[in-house]
Amino acid sequence: MSPGLALQGRAKFATIPDWPCIFPSRRRTRHSRAPPYTKNTMPTPPHAIGFTLDPLDRLSEKRDDEGFIAGLRDDAATRFLLFVNNVPLFKRATGHDPLFDAREAARLGAPLQSVFLGRDADARALFALSFDEAVRSTLEGDSADSATSAAAIEAIELRPIAMQGLVPPPLVSALGEARSMLDWHRRHRFCANCGHPTDAAGAGWRRICPNCKAQHFPRVDPVVIMLVTDGERCLLGRQPQFLPGMYSALAGFIEPGETFEHAVCREVLEEAGIRCTDVRYFASQPWPFPSSLMIGCFARAATTEIVVDEKELEDARWFSRAEVAGMLDGTHADGLSAPKPFAIAHHLLKAFATGELE
Ligand SMILES: [Zn+2]
Repeated sequence: MSPGLALQGRAKFATIPDWPCIFPSRRRTRHSRAPPYTKNTMPTPPHAIGFTLDPLDRLSEKRDDEGFIAGLRDDAATRFLLFVNNVPLFKRATGHDPLFDAREAARLGAPLQSVFLGRDADARALFALSFDEAVRSTLEGDSADSATSAAAIEAIELRPIAMQGLVPPPLVSALGEARSMLDWHRRHRFCANCGHPTDAAGAGWRRICPNCKAQHFPRVDPVVIMLVTDGERCLLGRQPQFLPGMYSALAGFIEPGETFEHAVCREVLEEAGIRCTDVRYFASQPWPFPSSLMIGCFARAATTEIVVDEKELEDARWFSRAEVAGMLDGTHADGLSAPKPFAIAHHLLKAFATGELE
C-alpha cells in the first residue's frame, strides 16, 4: 500500500523502505520482508510539519497475528485514543491528555471500531477506538459529578488541538492516523462491490465482505499543493472560506492517471491561468480531514498573466519575497497573513522567503 512516488532532490527524506516491488534490488516476498520500521529507520521529515513527526512503528507485518494483537491490547502499558464521531476525547485534568488506559476506555462500553495504530518511541502500543453518540451522556454524567477531577473528559475537534499545539507533536501524528482510520471505517461499512455489510480484519487495517469475499483497504487521497515562483515573486491565492487577509499556495486533488507533476500544472492553469514547468517535490504531509496526503511542490511559472477561476478562488496574485516574509512573521504592511507552521503551505512559503529554494 505504500505510495510509490518518483521523488527528486530530497529523495533521502522521502524514500519509503517498504516501496512496492518495482525495483529489482528492493524486491521482496511476503515471507522475506525487511525488519519493521523503527524510530531509527523512519525517514526524518526535513521540516517540522504537523502530523509528520515521530510516526509510530506500525508493525504492519503483525496485523494478522490475532494473538499478538490481543496480547498488546491486554498489556497494562498500552494506551487508547478514544473518538466519538471523529472527535477525539481528552482528559482535561492535566491539560489535554488523549491517552486512556484499558480501565478508563472500558467505562465507555464496547467500541464500534478498534484499530491497532502501532508502537510509540517508548515501545508502548496505541489503539484507536470509536464510540457512538450514546457515550456522550456517560461523559456528561462524569463531568457533572466530578468536573474538576481526573475523570473530566472533553471531546474536542482535532484540527484546533493540532493547530494550537495543545498536545505534543508525536501524539498529533498518532491522533491524525487514528482519525483517518476511524473515519474510513465509519464510511465504508458496506461492500463497494456488492453492497453487503463488511467486517473489519487485520487489526482494523482492512475490511472483508463475507458475501463476495472482496477485500477493502483504507484510502488516501493525494493532493498537490504548490508554490509557483517567477524569480523574486510567487503566486498565492485566496479561497472565500479563508480567514480575512490570508493567502496560501494553490492546491488540488490528483486525478486518476496523473502524475503529481501533471496535477500541479493542470491545477495552476485551471485556477490561475498560469502555465508552469520545472515541478519539484518538496515534502509531504498526511492531512486527516478526512484522509488526504498533501504533496508539497515548487513549480516555475512559464507565463505570468493571472486569470482567476472565480469558482475556486476569490483572488490570486503575485507576492514579492519580502511580502511573503512579512506575511509569515506578522509584519505585512497591509496585514495579510499566511498559514501557520502546522501546515505544509507555511513551509513552502518559508523556503521561498528565506532563499532555501534557489
Ligand atoms: Zn461484497
